[in-house]
Amino acid sequence: MGFSLQVDPVRCEGFGMCAELLPEAIELDDWGYPMFRDGILPEHLRELAERAVDVCPVLALRLVSPERVRTALQSRALAPHTALRSDGGG
Ligand code: SF4
Repeated sequence: MGFSLQVDPVRCEGFGMCAELLPEAIELDDWGYPMFRDGILPEHLRELAERAVDVCPVLALRLVSPERVRTALQSRALAPHTALRSDGGG
């Protein structure tokens, strides 16, 4: 089935410890903030991913199901329509 990683960009302080534990899935940008290579990670990386979540000093990283990622992306896609309705424009 696989899983995904999600980072809270407000909490993340770019220490990069997660990328050290899971270089197969996480690389750091020029400022040391994590970027995920693939959307869905294979199950054999789950244990390492859980360790990466555990070592994050600011609790910015978490595992999510692929379904949850899809739902979040869909709701973001719908957000502009929602804003229009709340403004009385649609
Ligand atoms: S370990 Fe946590 S704070 Fe550090 S880069 Fe990864 S997500 Fe950000």
